Amino acid sequence: MENVIIIGSGPAGMTAAIYAARADLNPLVAGGIQWGGLLMWTTEVENFPGFPGGIIGPELMSNMKKQAERFGAKFEFKDVTEVDFGSQPLKVKIAEQWHETKAVIVAAGTKPRTLKLPREKELIGRGLSVCATCDGAFFKDKEVIVLGGGDSAMEEATFLTKFAKRVRILMRGDEVRASKIMYQKAKDDPKIEIMFNTEVTEYLGDKLLEGVKIINNKTKEEGELEAQGLFFAIGHVPASKVFGNQLPTDEKGYLLKKEWSMSEVAGVFIAGDIEDWRYRQAVTAAGAGCMAAIDATRWLHQNGE
Ligand code: NDP
Repeated sequence: MENVIIIGSGPAGMTAAIYAARADLNPLVAGGIQWGGLLMWTTEVENFPGFPGGIIGPELMSNMKKQAERFGAKFEFKDVTEVDFGSQPLKVKIAEQWHETKAVIVAAGTKPRTLKLPREKELIGRGLSVCATCDGAFFKDKEVIVLGGGDSAMEEATFLTKFAKRVRILMRGDEVRASKIMYQKAKDDPKIEIMFNTEVTEYLGDKLLEGVKIINNKTKEEGELEAQGLFFAIGHVPASKVFGNQLPTDEKGYLLKKEWSMSEVAGVFIAGDIEDWRYRQAVTAAGAGCMAAIDATRWLHQNGE
């Protein structure tokens, strides 16, 4: 029987592991096959406090892992395939193996939606990015594309104008999903061009992104755009599927907390991007992981541990 199983190994899960381990709970982290979360997809992280010269995303996550291990956290880099939160003890299936536990911290994060075109994986970090805040500064005086028509796309595009020579927003439809005010701000920016009914069909460039092939899905006209950077802002998908109908979610699948970081199920705590669509930063996720571990520790003590 475990004291606490932490599901997820991004900044939220790793910070929860550090705090739970230091509280002598000997946590088991179900870190996933692709451990480390979204920061494993980025190069330099320049906005995580404490690293004035920046730090490479995977190195930051590796440091967090070492820190958690130093205090006794155990890791299994396998995916959680099923949970049973119907009664105590709680049950978590990691790969093929069921584990019983008194508490669970769910920090499974989100996955950015991407286009799933060929060569996408090899070009991530080489022109393709899922985070303008993280990678925008690498595109000084470059041609940049932002995909999407929601608030995220407008926000990312506006942010990128600080660096890029030109930012093109490509929307697949002709309806803007973003709020009026954010759309207007982007529309009024002289560095931003907005293209409607435009879909990317291919990434161009050998080792680095150099452009994209596009098609206008109304006129069927095809073309190419030069671009050294392409930012996906076509939504995030919370990794909440595995929790099925056992934890309440909003209509987009983000988990809902009931009191502080605890969910509706006693002993199940939630931290990070899987419930936070708004801030989605490494430092806010780390803070949430800390809060969930403190709440879990207190709950376990109140319940006789
Ligand atoms: P949205 O769901 O609002 O928008 C997603 C956009 O991506 C849409 O334009 C959609 O197109 C497009 N899209 C989805 N799938 C694809 C695809 N496969 N190919 C091409 N385009 C695609 O997501 P956001 O991340 O922008 O926003 C999420 C939530 O967060 C919203 O509630 C938003 O208001 C909020 N938010 C608030 C901010 C703020 O207040 N500062 C900042 C950022 C987000 P289509 O319309 O054709 O479906």
